[in-house]
Amino acid sequence: MLSKEERTEKLRQIKEAVLNLKESPLYDYRRQNNYFPVIGEGNHEAKIMFIGEAPGRNEAKTGRPFCGAAGKVLDNLLASVGIPRAEVYVTNIVKDRPPENRDPLPKEIEVYGPFLDQQIEIIQPQVIATLGRYAMQYIMQKFGLSDVLRSISQMHGRLFEAKASYGKIKILPLYHPAATIYNRELIKDLETDFQKLKNI
Ligand code: URA
Repeated sequence: MLSKEERTEKLRQIKEAVLNLKESPLYDYRRQNNYFPVIGEGNHEAKIMFIGEAPGRNEAKTGRPFCGAAGKVLDNLLASVGIPRAEVYVTNIVKDRPPENRDPLPKEIEVYGPFLDQQIEIIQPQVIATLGRYAMQYIMQKFGLSDVLRSISQMHGRLFEAKASYGKIKILPLYHPAATIYNRELIKDLETDFQKLKNI
């Protein structure tokens, strides 16, 4: 088990590596726009890790995950079940903003995925809550659950068990908070699914 200081140091090394990740297809775009990579934020000993897709504009301008409109939805959902955001860890698969908020490309997921893998090993969360289908697909595949993968409308709110290198974990696929901005109906599902997080 790593100490809090060791975790912080290892996460700092990830930040350093991503900052200098010239082989990323998003590196030049970040530099041209004076954006920051978004590594993650929160408790380095969190029991719950939220994994989104990729930073949006606000996130790339500040270097903080989920600090724009989608972040507000996430904050409200956390507040609705009494989980302080400071207690959890929030990150994304892709650490740099894709142009025009387009979906991440397979190559981008391939380049940034190993950093997410390291973050999971460092923080060792007991629960991983994925936000949106890209994070769901990545995490389900990573933990050997590809055969139960379905569409996010069939998967959200269902709890899956898996084995991490450090012990058992639970995986809870959730809709992406930004999806509720375009489809208000989804907020009810997300609220119900967040109750599950509270109960775990
Ligand atoms: N959407 C994401 O998937 N991640 C963020 O950090 C912000 C918006």
